[in-house]
Amino acid sequence: MNEPMISDAARIRDNLRHLRERIETACARSGRRPETVKLLLATKTVPAERLRAAVDAGERLFGENKAQELREKQPALADAPVEWHFIGHLQTNKVKDVIPYVTMIHSVDRLSLAEALHKRLSRDGKAMDVLIQVNTSEEPSKFGVRPEEAPMLIEQVAAFPTLRIKGLMTIGKLSADPKDARRCFRLLREIRDRARDLRLPGVEMAELSMGMSGDLEIAIEEGATIVRVGTAVFGERKYPDSYYWREGK
Ligand SMILES: *Cc1c(COP(=O)(O)O)cnc(C)c1O
Repeated sequence: MNEPMISDAARIRDNLRHLRERIETACARSGRRPETVKLLLATKTVPAERLRAAVDAGERLFGENKAQELREKQPALADAPVEWHFIGHLQTNKVKDVIPYVTMIHSVDRLSLAEALHKRLSRDGKAMDVLIQVNTSEEPSKFGVRPEEAPMLIEQVAAFPTLRIKGLMTIGKLSADPKDARRCFRLLREIRDRARDLRLPGVEMAELSMGMSGDLEIAIEEGATIVRVGTAVFGERKYPDSYYWREGK
C-alpha cells in the first residue's frame, strides 16, 4: 500500500556503508590501517544498472567471474572511473576475451593458462598483473593449484615476462566453523611468505586476495589486502556458486 519503499540504490549504499564499517572494525582489531585493505565488489549476476549505484557511492574496483558477463557490463560503465579484475575460472580459449578489459587476473592456477596468457599478451604487446589461485581448502571441487604445488607454479609463471605476479588468491572453506576459513587464509599467507623469501625477479607477492561476505573479518586478521565481496552488497544470488566455482561448467 503506502509503505515507504527503500530504493535499490539506497539499499546498496547502506550495505556499502555497513561493509566499510566491518572492514574498519576488523582492521582496528588487527592493528591494520583500513587503506591497506582494498574492497573488490564481486559482481557476478548483478546487472550494470545496479553496479552504477556502487560507482555513485564511490566504489572503483569490480571483479567478474565470466568473460561473457565482463564483456556485457564493462561497456555499460566505460564512462566511470572503475577498474575490473577477473576472479573466476578462466578457460584458455577465453583469454582473448578477458585481457582487453581487466587490469588483474586473480585466478592463474595452472601452467597451461599462464602459457595461453603469455602468448596472447605477447601478441598484443601488453603485460598483466596476476595472482596465483591456491586451493587452500583442498576440496577437489574447487579451482586453484594445490598448496604443495604452488611454489613450483609461482616459479613457472614468474618466468613469463608478460605476467607480473603480485600475490596469491584463495577461496576460504565455506563452513560453519570459522576455524576452517582461518586455516585456509593462514596457509595462503604462509605460502606467500615462503614465496617472497625466494626473491624471484619480477615477483612482488604483496597481495593476498582472500575473504568474502561471510569471512572477510577473519581474512583481514590473517593479512588480506583485497577482500572480494558480493552478497553483502548486492544481496543473494539466484545461481548457486557451484555454477561459477566448479569444473565442467
Ligand atoms: C562470488 C565470489 C565472491 C564473493 O562472494 P560473496 O559470498 O557473495 O561475498 C568472491 N570471490 C569469488 C571468486 C567469487 O566467485
